[in-house]
Amino acid sequence: MTLHPLPAFSDNYIWVLHDGHRALAVDPGEADGLAQWLQQQGLQLDTILITHHHGDHTGGVAQLREATGARVFGPARESVPAPLHRVEGGNSFEALGVRFEVMDVPGHTAGHIAFFAADVDGAPLLFCGDTLFSAGCGRLFEGTPAQMLDSLTRLATLPAHTRLCCTHEYTLSNLRFALAVDPDNAALAAHASHCRGLRERNLPTLPSSIGLERQINPFLRSHEPALAAAAQAHDPASSPDALGVFTTLRAWKNVFA
Ligand code: ZN
Ligand code: FE
Repeated sequence: MTLHPLPAFSDNYIWVLHDGHRALAVDPGEADGLAQWLQQQGLQLDTILITHHHGDHTGGVAQLREATGARVFGPARESVPAPLHRVEGGNSFEALGVRFEVMDVPGHTAGHIAFFAADVDGAPLLFCGDTLFSAGCGRLFEGTPAQMLDSLTRLATLPAHTRLCCTHEYTLSNLRFALAVDPDNAALAAHASHCRGLRERNLPTLPSSIGLERQINPFLRSHEPALAAAAQAHDPASSPDALGVFTTLRAWKNVFA
């Protein structure tokens, strides 16, 4: 199986997984670029996965389904273009011979889901939409900090070698914040210079991995003393427990330039 991040809009990726004949696409916010790429590669679109209702993740679904007859799996509790197979945490299904498990990961949106495959050519894979980014996490448009922290904590317990397929190339800007709040983290500094090199060559910084994110992502590290100290220094009223630290970091990131 081949995994390919197809750039869309200014900083989205439409992830494509394919076996050389049939393809699965995740969060196609637009149809034309994907349809053209699939045609160039000689691929037939078989399945579309949708993580949440935002237009930059769903805008191409109707046109693609019309053109290809692809099956669509999407969140049970969000308004996305029907018809679709509505799925939620605990459900599983098969596509391209791969078993996908659905996880509920509310926070960015109220009904956000993620798709985990334990075995794609022997290694796990996660399509997590706008919940977890490399060195960052999604904004809390519809959920509470407690919901998002719970979602991220469950994602962080997936196997370390899980390939992490996020839907935006936000890594460099996330890394600037991460370095500001976790300045003594050597793994983080090393990864930041690696990613700067990738972006200079216009290469994606993704997929990341769950194991790497546990080391470098401040939003998976709110239980660490270094992050608690940074949160306290920024906002003395911040509570020192993991939820208090997470809440402070998420609010700080929103205004960090
Ligand atoms: Zn979104
Ligand atoms: Fe998005």
